[in-house]
Amino acid sequence: MLSNEHALSERLRATGLKVTPGRVAVMKLLGGTAAALSHAEVVEALGGLADRASVFRNLNDLVRVGLLARHDAGDRIWRFRSTEEAAEHRAHPHFLCDDCGTLRCLPDVEVVVRSLDSAPKAVREARVDIRLSGRCDGCASAIPGQAAAPHGHTHRSERPL
Ligand SMILES: [Zn+2]
Ligand SMILES: [Zn+2]
Repeated sequence: MLSNEHALSERLRATGLKVTPGRVAVMKLLGGTAAALSHAEVVEALGGLADRASVFRNLNDLVRVGLLARHDAGDRIWRFRSTEEAAEHRAHPHFLCDDCGTLRCLPDVEVVVRSLDSAPKAVREARVDIRLSGRCDGCASAIPGQAAAPHGHTHRSERPL
């Protein structure tokens, strides 16, 4: 554990950010989980270690220097995770159910993006997240108007309860 903290401190120092206990705690938390956590979830997980405002500042500082990535699963809530974890998810598309909000990884689906020169640079260079949306199998077979409960292997179920 100590060496882990030491490695994290070194990574922080290498970015030019000051090494503070708050930043190390955030890095340690997000490095130890595959899930992406929202600001509120990070505050909760850290318990009494830090106040909301400083956690918010630390998250944004770490995104700015490239140690964390943030994304919006479609519900307008920023979630944060390590850039390594984010790169892994960028390698495959995702499916967001319009009815129940479940977000699923689609490692077996390939979506080919062909773009013209007029497309934004991020699209031309494939630095974008591909998200398909529609109704998941559970919701498609549910009684109309009644969304099925989230199910299967999802980002949501990966988050610690
Ligand atoms: Zn659904
Ligand atoms: Zn994924």
